[in-house]
Amino acid sequence: SSSAPKNQESSNMPPIETQQYDYIVLGGGSGGSGSARRAAGWYGKKTLIVESGRSGGTCVNVGCVPKKMTWNFATINETLHIAKNYGYDIPDNITKNYNQFKNTRDAVIKRLNGAYENNWGREGIDLVHGRAGFVEPHTIEVKLADGSGTVRYTAPHILLATGGRPSIPAVPGAEHGITSDGFFALEELPPKIAVVGAGYIAVELAGVMNAVDVETHMFIRGETFLRKFDPMVQKTMTNRYEAVGVNIHRNHGGFKEVQLIRDGKGKDRLLKLIGHDGSELEVNELLWAVGRAPEVEDLNLDIPGVKLNAGGHVVVDEYQNTSVEGVYAIGDVTGQAELTPVAIAAGRQLGSRLFGPPELKHSKISYENIPTVVFSHPEVGCIGLTEPEARQRYGDDKIKVYHTKFTAMYYDVGLSPEEKAKNPTEMKIICAGPQEKVVGLHILGLGVGEMLQGFGVAVKMGATKQDFDSCVAIHPTSAEELVTMR
Ligand code: FAD
Ligand code: NDP
Repeated sequence: SSSAPKNQESSNMPPIETQQYDYIVLGGGSGGSGSARRAAGWYGKKTLIVESGRSGGTCVNVGCVPKKMTWNFATINETLHIAKNYGYDIPDNITKNYNQFKNTRDAVIKRLNGAYENNWGREGIDLVHGRAGFVEPHTIEVKLADGSGTVRYTAPHILLATGGRPSIPAVPGAEHGITSDGFFALEELPPKIAVVGAGYIAVELAGVMNAVDVETHMFIRGETFLRKFDPMVQKTMTNRYEAVGVNIHRNHGGFKEVQLIRDGKGKDRLLKLIGHDGSELEVNELLWAVGRAPEVEDLNLDIPGVKLNAGGHVVVDEYQNTSVEGVYAIGDVTGQAELTPVAIAAGRQLGSRLFGPPELKHSKISYENIPTVVFSHPEVGCIGLTEPEARQRYGDDKIKVYHTKFTAMYYDVGLSPEEKAKNPTEMKIICAGPQEKVVGLHILGLGVGEMLQGFGVAVKMGATKQDFDSCVAIHPTSAEELVTMR
């Protein structure tokens, strides 16, 4: 607490040694790393990163990277299944070694941890592993991770980039389940899994499990998942998941209790989920994917007086300033568009603004038109407004919507109409005003994750439907539909 230094002064103890930096970054994740590297690497500022866990943060260790690798692992199984239709002689019972894949994935992450630290070292950034918290308005104390004690640091500029962690609902026995962190620690696949939640993580990880032949149950509170996305995405994707075998428990009222029946790994683990309606389901694993909470508890933010909002996120202005001068926040801890490239961009802009030349004194990230992809099966890509948002902002009479739904050529290999229908590609372009400016783009299907980046540039530049149409199509692709839609 803030009383510690005062007590020491009053008892005539020598002042605690405090090391001085230009810039202290709390959290060595996507945003913290991006900002520190801008400050030190570009502008030569004496910079310190404090990281309590593994270098690289959520994205590298328990987020984007292991998630995308696992998505690739699952996508290969889907490819193997359809390969039969292309004439490949694929055995019915393809075996896979998840543990081997997991070890390969861990090795990639370990290499990335080293790459982060090498980059920091090369750019003259100091790294200290430990847990940081304020002890004075501009001084932090770090409990060193190796247990060797505490160190104090001070700087005129301190960045909060401490990210977040998965939430677990207050259900008796909830601790028998895992979160996305635990998911990436699984050594083997559970034969049957329950996934609770309806956002990015629930949809991505349930999709992966189902695609590698794990019996997957999704428990969602509403009729559809991805409820913050365009209604087209919600409806088509929820139906698609159900069509390919995910057991979706809609309008679910939550669990009364989770019982551990048998401890162990994989098939040897058994949990019983008891619903408020008295329903029971036995599964080998339970994944909570009900959202994330900001990582602020240990920071003692009351000492500098940094304000938090009702959700516990750090309140910032458009320049990432907190309520306290010289203290800034970026990334997940602020709850603003919780995506890695957003945290990186915000961190870099802040670094330029604080330490760059005068012409960069107003640098900031634009939070408008941020493209995003859900690595579901198939992928979903979105930029801009959903249709209801666009109608509300511009009025029904100002909005024109273009829409198409089809089966990609890839699936045109002797599948029955029902099988084909299980593999939709669907696109929606939402245009506003007489110029038909594209204000929303929503696409789902094979390859849309790669497709969206270029269209994102166009939308960010303010493209109209006519600009889309003036670009000659690339044939034969799914993407060509986006420049030929009527
Ligand atoms: P983080 O990366 O979380 O970094 C914060 C760091 O601060 C951590 O390393 C933590 O150990 C450290 N820390 C916390 N408290 C302290 C303290 N008191 N002292 C010292 N250090 C501290 N985004 C995408 O763009 N694409 C994706 O595909 C994607 N997939 C995801 C999949 C999953 C399963 C999850 C969970 C997230 C995913 N995200 C994805 C989101 C992305 O990971 C985050 O938005 C991003 O990591 C946020 O970066 P950050 O710098 O704000 O925080
Ligand atoms: P999200 O906020 O995306 O989704 C959580 C969802 O869980 C809510 O939308 C809500 O859906 C549902 N939910 C909340 N409480 C409960 C409950 N008690 N019982 C059942 N369902 C509940 O959080 P995630 O944890 O999935 O992801 C966090 C963030 O990380 C994302 O928002 C995203 O920004 C980022 N991320 C990005 C990825 C990417 O870029 N591909 C991948 C993964 C994460 P409802 O209201 O419909 O019930």
